[in-house]
Amino acid sequence: MTTSPDLTDAERARILAKTARFAPPLAQLADGRRDLVGLSRAELAAELAAIGEAPFRAKQLWHWIYHQGVTDFARMSTVARPLQQKLAEAFVIGRPEVAAQQTSADETRKFLFRFRDGQEAETVYIPDRQEDRGAVCISSQVGCTLSCRFCHTGTQALVRNLGAPEIVGQFMAARDAYGEWPSPKGETPRLLSTIVLMGMGEPLYNYENVARAMTIVMDNEGIALSRRRITLSTSGVVPMMDCAGAELGVNLAVSLHAVRDDLRDELVPLNRKYPIAELIAACRRYPGASNARRITFEYVMLDGINDSPADARELVRLIAGMPAKVNLIPFNPWPGSPYATSKPAVIERFAGIVMDAGYAAPVRTPRGRDILAACGQLRTESRRAAVTRRVLPAHPPMQAPSDPQAGDRLARTG
Ligand code: SF4
Repeated sequence: MTTSPDLTDAERARILAKTARFAPPLAQLADGRRDLVGLSRAELAAELAAIGEAPFRAKQLWHWIYHQGVTDFARMSTVARPLQQKLAEAFVIGRPEVAAQQTSADETRKFLFRFRDGQEAETVYIPDRQEDRGAVCISSQVGCTLSCRFCHTGTQALVRNLGAPEIVGQFMAARDAYGEWPSPKGETPRLLSTIVLMGMGEPLYNYENVARAMTIVMDNEGIALSRRRITLSTSGVVPMMDCAGAELGVNLAVSLHAVRDDLRDELVPLNRKYPIAELIAACRRYPGASNARRITFEYVMLDGINDSPADARELVRLIAGMPAKVNLIPFNPWPGSPYATSKPAVIERFAGIVMDAGYAAPVRTPRGRDILAACGQLRTESRRAAVTRRVLPAHPPMQAPSDPQAGDRLARTG
């Protein structure tokens, strides 16, 4: 089945209109000072013009904000003291507050960031164990509308979209935690070397803010992260996949998880709107996909549900001829989850069928097993603790979890 361009345009307009209903609050302090993080270059110039400053100041501030990573105007040594003061009276350079953080024995580090309105979202840094680099998994929404059945975040209602300052702010705050400023140039190694939009939420249901944030991250005079180092993961919002490919050109990951519509309708309910054939067609036309930039299909392994040899063969048939790889993700049950993970031999058999067809099919190694690593769990704990504190004011602050089975889903399985 394919969708006509007119239908796709109408659907895209409908999605963007709905997105607006969950808009983030204005990035402004109670005293009226505007946060400069998250503004485009043109918007930054306009803000500066509003206080009587010349356009070249925007370039200067961009360098200090995104290349040097400063949050204090007084540290901008190329800006005269009186102007530093004037800027500090009108603006701030914000960061989300770290509400909680946990570091796993394998050095995976999870942050719960709190934004100005008190809402919270999770960010995870997953270091490469062989090299000095790693991926930052970023959230795009507080909660999620999609209710994928294997996903803990899917149990949380959508509260609102994150704004561009909050999305880019997660990456900047994570870099603060590792002291990775100024932004490494060119091929200089980076500790926080890739971004994966696989945290809480469906990024293509918050496309405009995600696109603004990624445009800032990719700007060569600031953070300067290449589009090849950014992966956007979607559950299959087909009309917006074309937009993301054309406008951002970042890598694409698709949460597939099932190869039959009846099962995918259940696991990823968005499938009822955009069924597998439409999703695969959108993948096939995704711009820039090549053997060097393969589309990643995420596939969570659920015991007796989607892990048969017939499923593996159908998966191979679906992606035939596409530059693709398949990430197999052993499911990690969270409290109340309705599934168990596939047995290791079953996962191996599945991977073997996919690999025999010529596709890479790595089995994702569980990371951060000793922390609340399933996407959304830390936020749930924080909210539970907040409720408890309201009921029992003397209750101690949130403790690090002791449950060693607390989850391994560090990149989103949706
Ligand atoms: S897997 Fe992703 S899209 Fe699905 S409910 Fe979870 S966060 Fe939302």
